Amino acid sequence: MPHPEKTRADVDTGNALVVLKNVDKHFGALHVLQSIDLTIDRGEVVVVIGPSGSGKSTLCRAINRLETIDSGEIFVDGRPLPAEGRELAGLRADVGMVFQSFNLFAHKTVLENVTLGQIRVRKKDKKAAETRGRQLLDRVGVASQADKYPAQLSGGQQQRVAIARALAMDPKVMLFDEPTSALDPEMINEVLEVMQQLARDGMTMVVVTHEMGFARSAANRVVFMADGRIVEETTPDEFFSNPRSERAKDFLSKIL
Ligand code: ADP
Ligand code: MG
Repeated sequence: MPHPEKTRADVDTGNALVVLKNVDKHFGALHVLQSIDLTIDRGEVVVVIGPSGSGKSTLCRAINRLETIDSGEIFVDGRPLPAEGRELAGLRADVGMVFQSFNLFAHKTVLENVTLGQIRVRKKDKKAAETRGRQLLDRVGVASQADKYPAQLSGGQQQRVAIARALAMDPKVMLFDEPTSALDPEMINEVLEVMQQLARDGMTMVVVTHEMGFARSAANRVVFMADGRIVEETTPDEFFSNPRSERAKDFLSKIL
């Protein structure tokens, strides 16, 4: 039997883990992604910021193939999208995603939340999945909550479980779409600290956030989006001290 993963042409994208080339996406008449070119290197932390409606979530969802694109190309570790079937399940497992709303399985325990994907998608046996799951719950500081249900946890704890669940798939890249926006203020830092640690450990990350402190301290690069376009792409220092476009200046004046 041919390996479905190998039926389409893989390319060598070198140190680039995620590559978007000339990506366009419409929702009806709305042009939500306009000629997006973006390359994310292995180990890089890219923070995506921009006004509401600028296409940040659509960009993340396109990388994870939760949205199709109209034209252009997306490669994840040299593998072209769109993927289908088994190939798609493999891709989704390689691209971990953490959403604003924690999206845990409400009727599964915390431990089950972090083992299910390992068993179903990564085909691990239950014991190995639980060992790895407990390690990850410990890493994000919620080991003692393993047998509880999500509703019994605080928002910050739930979001840390969501991060552990994504990590359990051994993803190549982690996408975070406003992971702290739905949290009470006192819980934001505990989630950002877990993300900081991940970044220090070398995880490749794309983070949509309005947390400028995180962007300054963790990002290698800031991508500023407006109206479906990447308007600026530079270092955090440069972006915050010397934004070039009027859109970025205007945006920063409103949030800082
Ligand atoms: P952001 O995350 O930057 O706030 P989004 O990517 O969520 O922006 O949305 C970009 C634009 O696309 C917005 O105008 C939004 O209303 C629109 N949009 C997003 N998802 C859909 C959808 N499924 N159908 C129609 N319009 C959508
Ligand atoms: Mg969004």
